Amino acid sequence: MTHNNSPKITMSAPDLTDAERQAVWEVINTPMLSIGPRIQAFEESFRRYTGCQHAIGVNSGTSGLHLCVRAAGVGMGDRVITSPFSFVSSTNVLLFENAVPVFVDVDERTGNLDPVLTAQAAADLAEGGAAAQRWLPRRGAEQSGALKALLAVDVFGQPADYDLLSPIARQHNLKLIEDSCEALGAQYKNRMAGMLGDYGVFAFYPNKQITTGEGGMIVTNDSAAAELMTALRNQGRAPGDTWLSHTYLGYNYRMDEMSAALGTAQMARIEELLVSRQRVADLYNQHLAGLPGIEIPYLAPETTRVSWFVYVIRVARGVDREALAARLAQRGIPVRPYFLPIHLQPYMVERFGYREGDFPITEDLGRRGLALPFSGKMDEEQVAYVCQGLRELL
Ligand SMILES: *Cc1c(COP(=O)(O)O)cnc(C)c1O
Repeated sequence: MTHNNSPKITMSAPDLTDAERQAVWEVINTPMLSIGPRIQAFEESFRRYTGCQHAIGVNSGTSGLHLCVRAAGVGMGDRVITSPFSFVSSTNVLLFENAVPVFVDVDERTGNLDPVLTAQAAADLAEGGAAAQRWLPRRGAEQSGALKALLAVDVFGQPADYDLLSPIARQHNLKLIEDSCEALGAQYKNRMAGMLGDYGVFAFYPNKQITTGEGGMIVTNDSAAAELMTALRNQGRAPGDTWLSHTYLGYNYRMDEMSAALGTAQMARIEELLVSRQRVADLYNQHLAGLPGIEIPYLAPETTRVSWFVYVIRVARGVDREALAARLAQRGIPVRPYFLPIHLQPYMVERFGYREGDFPITEDLGRRGLALPFSGKMDEEQVAYVCQGLRELL
């Protein structure tokens, strides 16, 4: 089936203007393409926007999360409570340090970590023995290790429930890492996402709220951790180290100046970018509210501002999502299952022996979630076309 008069629709699209193009152009007319003034300006824009004391620009959200895991002192065999309903990198950064991710299932409305289960898991892991065992994977956790951190994810631009998670972290002396890679600009009880734990991370891949091509930003008020992470992103060079002396085992996680200039230009438009995304989400909500066979996104009362990253509907149990996706694709409407559970990814099954049924809510959301085309640049006609397609096919 071809629809010649259908609007052109992509899964996502960056929102860039001549200001961004000009900013990148200016950098490439200087010799300073890395470790220059642009990264400092980009970091300053995050200190201003989030109110954090330290902002550390890096070359991806994943590298930012990895540095937080290093700063939290997570090592071989250590345990970290986290969510199986996320993009894989929030778990992968634990595996980079040979730590054990301890998955806790999510709240079925928001897809964020369930605080009640999280409290239970932390208590049981602290107790050890059989109590701890029921939270650990079937294999791959034989080595003894300490429970060191809690890594929460702000799924789809909505913060997790930090007023319930923070006390758990405090009680068990855990570092609280906030994966805010999908939530730049979101607010939880009027507090900025990214600032709700010990360290927060944002990401700037082209489908995120702002983009630098590739990039990430760590925000924290912890000065010692910030100093360590700043050294680690730059091959382990501590303050005072020369170019060829390295206090720590570090990485090249630096963000280049072109990316930083692009990011600063995007941050100058952050409110406009968030408002355009809200406008598109509102259009979807209006068109889809009450449509039988799907649920539109749920927002918790604690979310005083959602920062729309993706627009994910849930198909009703019994609706064949894959068939629906295939027929939407025929009409030129790209859609994507979102998320596929981390514990069922092949490398996770192989390493830890996870099985279907281990995290039923995550798996249910994984079977029913469908991300619709979404960006702040979509117009009313495009949203209406997507929604019309859904209405006809359901
Ligand atoms: C985008 C994203 C990241 C980081 O992604 P990068 O591609 O490394 O920048 C991490 N966690 C979540 C939940 C994300 O959505």
